[in-house]
Amino acid sequence: MLNVDILGIKFSSLDDDEFKKLVLSFIESNKCNTIFTPNAEMLVMANENPEFKKVLYESDLNIPDGIGIALLAKRKGRVIKRFPGIEAMEKILSLAEIYGFPIFFLGAKEEVVEKLVENVKLKYPKLLVAGFRNGYFSDEEEKKIIKMINESGAKILFVALGAPKQELFINKYKGVLKVKIAMGVGGSFDILSGVKRRAPWMFRKLGLEWFYRILQEPKRIFVRFPRLVKFLSIYTRNV
Ligand code: UDP
Repeated sequence: MLNVDILGIKFSSLDDDEFKKLVLSFIESNKCNTIFTPNAEMLVMANENPEFKKVLYESDLNIPDGIGIALLAKRKGRVIKRFPGIEAMEKILSLAEIYGFPIFFLGAKEEVVEKLVENVKLKYPKLLVAGFRNGYFSDEEEKKIIKMINESGAKILFVALGAPKQELFINKYKGVLKVKIAMGVGGSFDILSGVKRRAPWMFRKLGLEWFYRILQEPKRIFVRFPRLVKFLSIYTRNV
């Protein structure tokens, strides 16, 4: 496992075996371990939001989701492999199926999370789904949701509320959650439910998944472009 510090946030680059061992050790531990998958955009947000930065700083595992993080690491003379969040989520789902770890899915629209559960049950027939809940709720409902997750017997919680909402949510409740792993997975429920498509192979190979997402949702350009410019300014400075 190779660790790289980028803007004060520790990123870990792991091979399959190391990832599996770490996930199993998290399950054996006696606390809720957090896994986040920051990309360049999230790094820009963290740079402007000290609370979010602290949450990433204190996370048990940050994996480098996109090409931006790999480029920043390269500037520091470290070669780290990109590990897209959706692939990490799928690896955890496979392990959960093999070892019988119940999963709770929290996030996305009701029809999306329902379809996601349907699809994962088909893909991982022995997977234990402890429960699911859509990601649209008020602050007052949060405690009820945490109770629901704790009573479900889940060992792993996937949260798809978008960044930084999902990371802040996990951080706020990690002290009371009984799950052993809570992971922020952004738009992965949309993809695994089939509502959105993952970037084709060529875009992934070239590190252009983010560009494919803009093509799918051109409105995003207004939010993403300023962040891209800020990212380039971070990139050109010493990190
Ligand atoms: N989402 C949610 N609750 C919210 C906001 C977003 O469940 O209050 C879900 C949204 O439906 C989507 C996922 O979070 O499934 C990721 O959202 P988005 O694509 O906006 O986030 P990003 O991938 O840009 O972090």
